[in-house]
Parts: sequence; structure tokens; C-alpha cells
Amino acid sequence: MLAIDIKNLSKSYQIGNSKFSVLNRINLEIKPGEFVAIMGPSGSGKSTLLQVMGLLDHADSGSYKLFGRRVENESSNVLSDIRGSMIGFVFQQFHLLAKSNALQNVFLPALYTEIEDPYLVAEAQLTKVGLQNRIQHTPNELSGGQQQRVAIARALLNDPPIIFADEPTGNLDSKSKIEIMLELQRLHAEGKTIVMVTHEPEMAEYCDRIIHVSDGQIVKEESKKKKRDIQTSFQNSLRRKTGWKLIQGILKQSLFSLTSNRLRTFLSALGILFGVVCVISVMALGEGAKKSVEEQFSSLGANLVIVRTGGMRSGGVSLEAGTVNRLDIYDVPAVQKKFPEVKQISAVVNGRAQLVFGNRNWNSFVTGASANYETLRNLEPTEGRFFTEEEDIKRALVCLVGNTVVRELYEGKNPVGTYLKINRVSFRVIGQLPEKGSTGFRDQDDVVLVPLNTAMRRLLNKDAVDNLEMELDPNESSDDFISAMKRFLHERHGTNESMGNIYQVMSMADIQSAVSETNQTMSTLLIALATVSLLVGGIGIMNIMLVSVKERTKEIGLRKALGARESDIRLQFLIESTLTSLTGGIVGLVFGILAVLFLQEYFGWTIVLSFPSIGFAFLFSITIGILFGWWPSEYAAKLSPIVALRSE
Ligand code: ADP
Ligand code: MG
Repeated sequence: MLAIDIKNLSKSYQIGNSKFSVLNRINLEIKPGEFVAIMGPSGSGKSTLLQVMGLLDHADSGSYKLFGRRVENESSNVLSDIRGSMIGFVFQQFHLLAKSNALQNVFLPALYTEIEDPYLVAEAQLTKVGLQNRIQHTPNELSGGQQQRVAIARALLNDPPIIFADEPTGNLDSKSKIEIMLELQRLHAEGKTIVMVTHEPEMAEYCDRIIHVSDGQIVKEESKKKKRDIQTSFQNSLRRKTGWKLIQGILKQSLFSLTSNRLRTFLSALGILFGVVCVISVMALGEGAKKSVEEQFSSLGANLVIVRTGGMRSGGVSLEAGTVNRLDIYDVPAVQKKFPEVKQISAVVNGRAQLVFGNRNWNSFVTGASANYETLRNLEPTEGRFFTEEEDIKRALVCLVGNTVVRELYEGKNPVGTYLKINRVSFRVIGQLPEKGSTGFRDQDDVVLVPLNTAMRRLLNKDAVDNLEMELDPNESSDDFISAMKRFLHERHGTNESMGNIYQVMSMADIQSAVSETNQTMSTLLIALATVSLLVGGIGIMNIMLVSVKERTKEIGLRKALGARESDIRLQFLIESTLTSLTGGIVGLVFGILAVLFLQEYFGWTIVLSFPSIGFAFLFSITIGILFGWWPSEYAAKLSPIVALRSE
């Protein structure tokens, strides 16, 4: 059986409108174990012929049998597998990976082809070409001759029956040329079939047979030595590597390429990094805002309805002082009678007052309310007790103080039992109010609470009340209640709608839902912004990946020559882009969390780190990596091996 059996093989290139014939009806037979030189002037088609024989390139017509098997119509996957299992290449430009050492370079074919103990074989091959002391050297630490010997060792890793060498001595000095030819002769002696392209007659002298090519045709053949009889046949089970071992190898390659280009990897991950920091902190801020609003409302009581009037301007109409259009304490029993859905109600008056304790002064707010204000507003005292209905009726001089007052006047000590001067009237402090926080406009803890009648008659001197605050049965519709309440108050006080919005009736439930709706809109907007920044980050990655593919075109060609399938190349670049993006994602996550903690610590913002946002950032960065890495990977995978190898 012949090693190579070529009949009527033709190939031409279309250049502009004319067809340019490179190979013209070539017929060629090479027996197993032969050492053949292909000679001819530059441009005569030697390399093209060799590349067709090495399954890196396709002919237009003719038949080609490699070790008895027709291969001209095989799919690209099968061609990759045949190259990986049966063919070794040696190139004029060596094509070593610059950042990998000699051993790693020789090992490369084992990524795609099943080879037993590849590292041992690689070391053995390097020893055979005399480089046992240069295993850790990278190509730039080796001479040209040594580099070519590494390439020969690499070609032999998969123990191929046939070796194609294109001007293997073309880039070498004369001493190295001889070394390489001796290596090839050694392989020949071991029984390998060798086809070598050269334009140097001295190199051709080492071969058994010289085939002269000119203008794409074989013009002359010389046989120098007697041919030996060696039997080799096509390997019917190609040793294509599969499964986890394949993926593991490719993963390592990707990691190696990313870590040997650290700065580039980092820079291309930067966009994603910022995007993720945005997503994390925006979501944490949004969640925090939502939480603090919810907390405030829950401390107010969600079913609270407040009626306000007096001194309020609304719709441009102000109520003149002295008019009768005011709320009064008799509204309380009237409302209770008319609206059974009101579970409890308190009239409330507000004012400012000067507080004096010992030698300390503090200007604060005074609120007067009835005894049920405790349950109405969730005001269970943290120290002491609330005032009673009896104390309210008797206009007792008792008060409860808020946290801010305690801090300002009592230096945080328990105020219960002390006497506090409010506008020069001495009050006994009977309790401390629970902390309520700030609404943003006003510190709700800067307050002194006294019984309603005490406030109206003995402190603020008011006939009218400022607010009516009530708890509505949660099963009632607050909309219906609000309009009914307004109608009722107009009727009671002889006012009407045309006089303006005199009674403001607010339900906390409505305000809360309005606030959380605004919050939701804000969050959506911010998420959209963060998404845009992630997309921009993705485009950045795609850019760098495309540059990387262009820059590594030769590497891609080499990998294909060594047996990589399209899917292997695609996987390698997809892993690279995904890992880049994921790196950005993880670093972004760390910075995002730090940013959130910083905002919390130094600005005291309420911030909630949510697991969904962390998961979102994580998944999003993986998705971006795959999405934007797809096109560059596809481009790399689809490169023809010979176009890639020949690229400059
Ligand atoms: P040799 O190795 O004998 O010097 P090649 O086989 O490399 O020659 O090339 C043979 C001819 O084909 C040359 O004239 C070259 O310019 C042409 N050629 C090679 N590759 C291409 C290509 N991709 N497109 C067009 N012409 C090509
Ligand atoms: Mg050539």
C-alpha cells in the first residue's frame, strides 16, 4: 500500500477575474518509509502541494489517498483528527508558542490527541533531539536550530507514520541545517515516511528521492537510494481526545494565556468590573431605601389616617387666623359616632417650646395628645410609663421625652423621675419615648409629649386642635373613608370644597404605596443604567478578544495543524472571554461590597446587600462573556488552517 497516492490533482486561485493555476494535474506516489524531497523554484507550488498532502489545504480536483484511504472529501473534524493522529508537521518558521517553554510546546499535540504519558514522551523526544537540558527554555532562549529541533520533537509526540516538512532548514545557519537533516535522517531510519520541501540541492542530497516541481507540475524525478519495504496502513481508530480530559487541557491553555497577559486581561475586564460595582451598590441602595421607608411607616402604623388643618396653606388658599374653620376636640366624639370603622382616635396639638433641665437649654417640639396615642402611634415607652386618661383630664404636668432630648439635656441618662421646665412650667418626666428616626425633614425624636388638655390649656394656650389622628379598620377602603371624612368635616364646620383644600386627609397606606412605587421606578432606572454599563463592558471584551484572535492567528493555525477541531478553538476562546468577564465580575463584586460598606459606615445610609443582586452580577458577567466572546471565538474557529498559518 502506498503512503501517498495522488492522481490528477489540480488547484488554482481566483485572482481578480483570472484563474491562476498553482497545481496542475499532479500525479505522485510515495511509498511508506520513503524520504522524499520536493524541489523547485520559488512560487512553483511546492508548499501548496505539501499542504494539500498534509490536509491543511484542499485541492480543487483529483483524488488523494493517504495510506490507502481516500481523504479528499472528509469533513473538517475528521481531517483534524487525521492530522492529530497520523501526521507530524515541521515548518520553516518553527511556529512555537512564544510564551510556552520547550516541554509545553512539545506537549501541545497531546491536548487534542490521546497520547499515553505525554509528558514522558515529550521529554524523551526532547532528549532524542539533544535538548534534555533546555526543557524549561522558552523559544527566545533557544537558537534557531534548537527551536527547529523542539518543533521536530513536537511533530513526533503523536508518533505519526508520516512527517511533512516545509523548508525546515530555510531559516537556519549551515551548521544547524546539517543538524536538522541528521535528525530527519534518524527518523527516516526509524521508519517514518518523510516528505520535505526544499529549494537547496545540498539538503535534497539527504533524501532517497527528489521530485522537481515547476509551475505546478512535476517535471523530473531522481531516485538516489534503493527503496526499503516498510508496511504502514491507515490508523482506522484515530486517537481523538474527548470528554473532560479534553476540556481540562483547553481550560489550562486559556488560563495560561490569560495569566500571561495579565494587564490586558485586567483592562478588558474593567468595563464589567465597573458595571458590577454599579449593579451591586445601586441594588443595595435601592433595597436600603425601601427598607428604611418601610421601617418608618411601620413605626407610624400602616392604618393611620391623619387629618390636618389650620395654618396650612394649600391650593393657594390660606385660612385666616381667627376663622372658625378649625378642628376642635369635639370632633373626636363626633367622628367616633359617625364612623364606626375608626378604631381609635386622638386629637393632637403641636408647638415649639424651650426646655430647661439644670443648666441646660434645648428648643424642641411639644406634642399634646390623648392617652391612646401610645397604641395609635406605637409609642410604648422604653423607660417609665405613658400618661393616663385621668392625667389628661386633670391637665397633669407630666411628660415623656424623645431620644434627642434625652441626649441633649440628660447626656443619655435615664430622665424618668426628674423635673423638666417646659416654657418655664415644671413637668415631671414619667417616660422616655422609643426611637423613631428621622423622616428626612424633621427629627422625630426631638419631641416632648404631654397630655392633650395640659398642652392646650397650660402650655400652648390653644382652643383648636391641629390634627386628628385615627386608626382605620384595615378592612375598610381608605379612599372611600377619606372622601366621606372630608364631606363630614365640611358639613360640621360649615365650610365647603370651593373654599379650598381645608382638610387634608392622608392615609399612611396610600403614602406608603406611593413611596414604594417611586422607589421601584428609581430602581428600574438605575438597573437599566447598570445594564448599559455591563453591555459596554461586554463590547470592550469583544474588542480585545477580536484583537487577540487576530494577533494569535498563527497560533490558531498551528493548533489546527496539530489536530485541534473547530470546536476546540471555539471553546478555548469562549473560555478566555468568559473567564475575563467573570474576573471582572468577581473583582467588581468585591469592590461593590466594599463600596456598599463604605457608604454605610461613613454616610450612615441604610443599605441592604441582597443575594439576588450578587447572583445577578455573577450570572450577568458570565452571560456577557459568552455572548460577546461568541463572535470572536466563531471567527477563530472557522479560520482555515492554512490561511491562519500563512498569515503575517
Ligand atoms: P512555493 O512554496 O513553491 O514557493 P507556494 O506553493 O507557496 O509556492 O505558492 C505557489 C503559488 O501560489 C505562488 O505563486 C503564490 O503566490 C500563490 N499562492 C499561494 N497562496 C495563495 C493564496 N492564498 N492566494 C493566491 N495565490 C496564492
Ligand atoms: Mg513555499
